[in-house]
Amino acid sequence: MKITSAKFIKGIVGEDPMLSDGKPQVAFIGRSNVGKSSVINVLTNNKNLAKTSSFPGLTQEINLFLINEDHYLVDLPGYGFAKVNKEGQERIFQLIKWYLFDSGAEQKKVVLIIDANVGPMEGDLDMLQSLEQNGKDIIIVANKIDKIKKSDLKKQFQKIEGLIGPHTIIPFSVDKKIGVKELINEILQ
Ligand code: GDP
Repeated sequence: MKITSAKFIKGIVGEDPMLSDGKPQVAFIGRSNVGKSSVINVLTNNKNLAKTSSFPGLTQEINLFLINEDHYLVDLPGYGFAKVNKEGQERIFQLIKWYLFDSGAEQKKVVLIIDANVGPMEGDLDMLQSLEQNGKDIIIVANKIDKIKKSDLKKQFQKIEGLIGPHTIIPFSVDKKIGVKELINEILQ
């Protein structure tokens, strides 16, 4: 399976008719700076599709991309960026939770991106728990595996698996293009 076309449609901050137009939605969430934009760009083979910013945490809209003319890729704002004040962080959480749990939108899959080198953090595990409680179909992308020493890989993944539990975990590296095919198959299948 391949992504043959990808285009930005629009950014939304609340109700929108596209959320219920029947096209399957695949949501991408993760902490700020985890590499979410980079993952979206490598999946769609478009270096500029999602913005990778040197000052993360500013995007507070839900960005809708249309892939293969028949799926929405839904890019949610990154959470947990230290330079965003508490109020700002809370607004981001509320927007993410509204879209996932209260908007009536249905996700075919929810892709939760974590930093494989750091391991899942408290915010990631809280998010995972909310996703589980709401019965979402979850894929974990463990990004930045190129940063882990080869000799530490096995131990680090045992740690990640222990914290994440029984979910599909895709080891991923944007820089080394590892996991790209596997993730595309998971979201399009
Ligand atoms: P976002 O805030 O989650 O959208 O993160 P970005 O896509 O802006 O990426 C944040 C930083 O992580 C950038 O400097 C990226 O170049 C870097 N990055 C993203 N993916 C990888 C990866 O797989 N490996 C490494 N080493 N760095 C990555």
